[in-house]
Amino acid sequence: MFDNLSDKLDKALHILKGHGQITEVNVAETLKEVRRALVDADVNYKIAKEFTATVKEKALGQNVLKSLKPGQLMVKLVKDELTELMGGDVEDIDLSGKPSIILMSGLQGSGKTTFSGKLANFLATKKTKKPLLVACDVYRPAAIDQLHVVGDQIGVEVFSDRGNNDPVAIAKAGIAHAKENGCNVVIIDTAGRLAVDEVMMTEIANIHEAITPNETLFVVDSMTGQDAVNTAKAFNDVLNFDGVILTKLDGDTRGGAAISIKSVVNKPIKFIGTGEKMEAIDVFYPSRMADRILGMGDVVSLVERAQEQFDEEEARKLQKKIAKNQFGFDDFLKQIQQIKKMGNMKDLIGMIPGAGKMMKNMDIDDDAFRHIEAIIHSMTPEERSKPQIINSSRKKRIGKGSGTSIQQVNQLLKQFDQMSKMMKMMQGGGGKRMMQMMGK
Ligand code: GDP
Repeated sequence: MFDNLSDKLDKALHILKGHGQITEVNVAETLKEVRRALVDADVNYKIAKEFTATVKEKALGQNVLKSLKPGQLMVKLVKDELTELMGGDVEDIDLSGKPSIILMSGLQGSGKTTFSGKLANFLATKKTKKPLLVACDVYRPAAIDQLHVVGDQIGVEVFSDRGNNDPVAIAKAGIAHAKENGCNVVIIDTAGRLAVDEVMMTEIANIHEAITPNETLFVVDSMTGQDAVNTAKAFNDVLNFDGVILTKLDGDTRGGAAISIKSVVNKPIKFIGTGEKMEAIDVFYPSRMADRILGMGDVVSLVERAQEQFDEEEARKLQKKIAKNQFGFDDFLKQIQQIKKMGNMKDLIGMIPGAGKMMKNMDIDDDAFRHIEAIIHSMTPEERSKPQIINSSRKKRIGKGSGTSIQQVNQLLKQFDQMSKMMKMMQGGGGKRMMQMMGK
């Protein structure tokens, strides 16, 4: 996410970090580089210019040249300004309606249908709501099918009416259906076009007027940069929407849309999409995003994601197994699956301060665990619970079955052995000892 921008800002701020003596000249030089980085990231030139002017003003106000750590102070000023530009505080969505009606708008391909599903899933699991998805795209039967597939996948009901070509009527019928069936959130997915056109705008405006939603959300593909900002403006002029959803941030290396959209339409970014899976949705926190852009990681989100997957009961069982030396490959597999549920690996690593930069050239993807999983799947249940019985003929068989080499099987067995020993040590009060060994 935003790799290019992070890189350039890092280089720009490095100019200051490296100097013992900081002068007005190299502050100006740094800010010029920061501005260039923003413009390269597809941030509107005017916004980039204002950004650096504000940072400069604050830097002078705080007497950055005389401060103890001028480099760090500058980084902080840039971070604060980025946070401000992206909206400052986090903005919730309005779920007070009975039912709450959420209207989705945006161009075709922006990720509306996918996001409707993600939001329904998010609300059902995190806020224990009972959502209903309503399919109002009357032009593309495939769009209705797609919403049904999404609904089935997350176990959320989908309301559609294939014979009907009046989206306003479908939306109203969907809301009535929600009321009859005790659904307290109605998410209305609408038709998009490839570009802004009048017919589409009139249609979405009509739906908007007829159903008076609690939330009107504008969904946009962040990879489209300045186009995203212009489209947002066009939709906002007609709908006066409540919030922006930025999708496909996982593929966005530049970040221009994320940085400029708020200041152009003066509406907050509420959620971001970071992948194709239903779980790839995050509440948008401007300050955490600024940290990530500046390569400072996002430990808070990482911990939150870990907590979401944490199951106390399971953890207790696992602890017992470790104490009894019964931790086997099945348990290991479960752990891997939990990590995978936290999100894609590259995204997770990017949340560790400094790690994103260090590992950015490594080829890490969702398949990072593929070999390990294949090897474990090729083991018999007995081998999984008692890895010590895996002799060389078994290794050969496992390697063949999983399409890996004996070396890879050996490597996994060795790692597993080391990990089991370490876990045992941590458990047996050795945690403290280990920390001491590590000099902590
Ligand atoms: P719609 O036409 O606006 O309803 O767009 P869709 O929901 O059909 O999404 C268009 C394409 O973008 C699909 O292939 C989705 O899987 C993909 N997509 C949606 N959101 C994301 C995201 O956050 N990240 C990535 N990588 N792909 C996404």
